[in-house]
Amino acid sequence: MHARAAVFFGPGRPFELREYPVPDPAPGAVLLKIRLSNVCGSDLHQTRGDGGNPIPPGGRVLGHEMVGEIVKLGEGVSTDSLGQPIQEGDRLVYTYFYPCRRCWHCTQGNFSLCTTRLAHYKESADDWPHFSGGFADYYYLRPGHFAFKVPDDLSDEMVSSANCALSQVIYSLQRGQFKYGDTIVIQGAGGLGLYAVAVAREMGAEKVIAVDGIPQRLELARQYGADEVVCLEEFTTPESRVQRVLDLTEGRGAEMVLEVVGMPQVIPEGLQMVQPGGAYVDVGVVSGKFSIEFFPAALLRRNARYVAVNHYEPFALYQALRFLSRNQKRLPLDRIISHTFPLERINEAFDQSEWFKKEAGKAGVTRAAIAPGL
Ligand SMILES: [Zn+2]
Ligand SMILES: [Zn+2]
Repeated sequence: MHARAAVFFGPGRPFELREYPVPDPAPGAVLLKIRLSNVCGSDLHQTRGDGGNPIPPGGRVLGHEMVGEIVKLGEGVSTDSLGQPIQEGDRLVYTYFYPCRRCWHCTQGNFSLCTTRLAHYKESADDWPHFSGGFADYYYLRPGHFAFKVPDDLSDEMVSSANCALSQVIYSLQRGQFKYGDTIVIQGAGGLGLYAVAVAREMGAEKVIAVDGIPQRLELARQYGADEVVCLEEFTTPESRVQRVLDLTEGRGAEMVLEVVGMPQVIPEGLQMVQPGGAYVDVGVVSGKFSIEFFPAALLRRNARYVAVNHYEPFALYQALRFLSRNQKRLPLDRIISHTFPLERINEAFDQSEWFKKEAGKAGVTRAAIAPGL
């Protein structure tokens, strides 16, 4: 049996739909059918050419933020990572990285630090198991991959961001030591930003302040629980935004400022919003292509911490599912995905996700998803 994958050959080149033999799961592995796979900011970094990952001959299958349905369990697999029974037809979410469990960091239980955790992303689409990314009909879950069964009451649209955006936010607030009664400023109200608003709220935030340039996003941020929003249309300079945050925090600034914009230009103003003893938590700037002028004194004078967070520990993904179950009736969780495209229209999905392009702005795509089964 053959099935489709959208293969990426490099920036500036359209995805090509190709067919590959569907792998039979080895002992310990699981074959999944992709239900929904989102276009995440880091996928856009790849297609723009500032992602940094080299493209192997034969191309790569992108897509890491997804939910799959079990088609076939390999020999010996009967449960998810928490021992919950699983069977064909059940849905799974899984970490998009694959810790080796054979390195120094893995022996310490620091799976987010495993140096080969993304090794499968370097594989060519030509090589077995072919289906190593979300923009395809199938996904091959390797033996021992951290995976959790999706509760029936959560829709694909609600859970498809769990293994990237939501887990990342949950883990980042914990790494940054966010605590009850703290105030947080969230730079960026895209998918991660909206989740951060809601998670901080649940963790007992005194005040949640969201900063963004798009009024519709900030409106959604309010629905997710933001107390205050700072719109770049109204506060047009970094100085005015810093002043606004100080005004909203009795002149102190926030215990935590979270960067989920993905552009380092926002860091200097964000540092000015951190209160003495607080933390600046950087999650979005994954691209190594951009630099900024940086004044360490902004941190030093505040006795502040700079916490950089890349990937998360597997427990955060289970906590993400629990968050969704607790909040599904309270929050518009299905509005994180604004548009869904079939696999054959993946190039359109990526085009319209470029929010700074005029035509994309018109389409109103905030987060697109690919549904291969459409
Ligand atoms: Zn992602
Ligand atoms: Zn490892």
